[in-house]
Amino acid sequence: MWNYSFTLPSAMILLILVTYYFRRPRLPLRMNRTFLMLLLIDALTIVTDYASSRVDETYMNHSAALGYAANLAFFVFFLARIFCFFLYILDILENHVRLPARFRGWSSAVFVLSELVALSSPVTHAVFFMDESGYHRGPCYDVLYVCFFFYLALALFLILKNARKLPNPVRDGLLSVVAILTLGNIARILLPTLLVMNTFCLMAILVIYLSFQNPDFFLSDRGNAFNTRGFRFLLREWNQKDSYRLLAFAIRDYSEIRGVYGGLQMDRCIGQIIEFLTENYPECLVFYLRNGAFVLIGPKNMDCQTMSEDISGRFRDAWEVMDTEMLMKPVFVEVALEKKTADSERVISMLLLALDSAGRSEPGDDLAGPLSINAIDRYLVEKRALELALEQDRLEVYFQPLVDSKDGSLVGAEALARLRAEDGSLIPPMEFIPIAEKDGSIIALGEQVIRKTCQFIRDNDMEALGLKWINVNLSPHQCMSRDLADRFGAILREYGVPAELIHLELTEQSILDYAMLKNQLIGLQELGFQFSLDDYGSGYSNLTRVKQYPFKNIKIDMEVVQNYFRDRDPILPTLVQAFRQMNFSITAEGIETKEMADAMAEIGCDYLQGYYFSKPIPMSAFLMRYSVKS
Ligand code: C2E
Ligand code: MG
Ligand code: MG
Repeated sequence: MWNYSFTLPSAMILLILVTYYFRRPRLPLRMNRTFLMLLLIDALTIVTDYASSRVDETYMNHSAALGYAANLAFFVFFLARIFCFFLYILDILENHVRLPARFRGWSSAVFVLSELVALSSPVTHAVFFMDESGYHRGPCYDVLYVCFFFYLALALFLILKNARKLPNPVRDGLLSVVAILTLGNIARILLPTLLVMNTFCLMAILVIYLSFQNPDFFLSDRGNAFNTRGFRFLLREWNQKDSYRLLAFAIRDYSEIRGVYGGLQMDRCIGQIIEFLTENYPECLVFYLRNGAFVLIGPKNMDCQTMSEDISGRFRDAWEVMDTEMLMKPVFVEVALEKKTADSERVISMLLLALDSAGRSEPGDDLAGPLSINAIDRYLVEKRALELALEQDRLEVYFQPLVDSKDGSLVGAEALARLRAEDGSLIPPMEFIPIAEKDGSIIALGEQVIRKTCQFIRDNDMEALGLKWINVNLSPHQCMSRDLADRFGAILREYGVPAELIHLELTEQSILDYAMLKNQLIGLQELGFQFSLDDYGSGYSNLTRVKQYPFKNIKIDMEVVQNYFRDRDPILPTLVQAFRQMNFSITAEGIETKEMADAMAEIGCDYLQGYYFSKPIPMSAFLMRYSVKS
């Protein structure tokens, strides 16, 4: 009665697919679970299809109960399989679009009803019944087709409705699955005795495997770790959960190390690291993202602290790759996923950014070390605000007065950059200057500050204000650019401002490598700029080194000044005297009280700066205040 010629080959191909699929690591994704269920149900459908057909053919040798059991099992799995295909299509759709809540629940109604009708058959004879002449279709047999076409039509509707939001290969893959299943069903209706439906289902499963399920799509090519795509998929699904923890680290200076050892060796080394991680942390999912960045995702009780110590411990030993010892240092980025509502794409891009910068930065740098998503969030907001301000020439420059210590009269001002966030609040320079230094925009930032300062000098009567000069801060990163003097010279000429009116402040940190700076400083000095050493006492510079530079003025760091008021030890007065003998003028920063101002004047400081006189204020406020006085 039945033609079985398609059954065995289908079962054999399915076996290969299953073996292949199970041999590779898989992520605990919903689509993977549905796919597994689909494989299982498909296998059971093939088996029960074959078994029930054999029982029906030889009904006279069996009891009616066996006939009912075999046929019922087949119908149950047959219906479950189509529903499973439908669920799988929903899973894939949901990787790209948001479906209405409870959609799955409602859409399962037809499946549940059909199953109930099928299961009632021994009593109601709805779908089939057995009698002395064997197996017969019941009056509601077409429930199978109704169920089948209902889910195919619903799937097609959803795919077409969201077609624009789906990447083309995803859309085409899903459409192919629907088309193959439809053809299979039509074949089943037209050729009921040919057991060909299973083959069509297998074809649909093959399309799914090739389009979405191949485990290699989610695996890194460096070893048995998952890749960025897998990380994206998992985080998207787990974003709202709080049942997992995440530990991330990057290899410091990965690109340079890769350059030194070569790509092949580096890849093998990454393979070894992955092996170490997967072997030592079997409860974790290990991801290799890119550029030496790894992520481990584990249960909520995962002890990130101990793990990072252990991993760092392993990294203290060399990795032996192709007879070479490779030494590397991991930098950890701790990610507290406190914002559960944050969309996962943002979390991922922030994490990648944090890992990138952790891999590049110096120890103690702003983005290295424990880092929360909030911190990265803020970092991105500030970076964006900085980009916009530089692009639209909206960086603000505030002035803080420098006064003569003898009589408190205005002699100069320090120009301090101010960045306004979108909400109107001010972002402190301590936050945006390091960002600008890191992404190179410090050059543009510095130019904008000096431009605006020049504009101020051009547009106002400096003498009437009592201003002899204006201090502008120069970052060490600016000094690295070879054409610094040319650019500053051009700006001075553009505004017709003599360089003598501008003093450049360099911090101790920038003078560590004199050889690097020498030419730039000489160039600037030839233009007529003078130099101040900023924040003296916050670093390590000694007097000999200070003397090598063309500084005219030393600014004592505010912490040194404020410490002096705590214990009054003789170091500061002695230092000031030494500087005076070396012909430097001295400025004390961070003067907040009259007592401080008097004491600093007494120990020999020439100029004072601090909140006691004024906080940094906008240029317009500065003009108002000092025009009136003069
Ligand atoms: P800095 O050059 O040492 O500037 C002095 C800092 O001390 C300013 O902080 C100022 O507001 C603060 N200050 C002044 N008097 C007092 C006081 O009495 N008490 C206290 N507690 N603080 C006082 P600000 O404006 O936040 O700037 C911080 C740093 O950012 C500056 O330190 C400077 O290194 C950097 N910076 C600011 N603007 C620029 C710029 O245009 N270019 C570069 N490269 N760096 C800049
Ligand atoms: Mg300064
Ligand atoms: Mg300073």
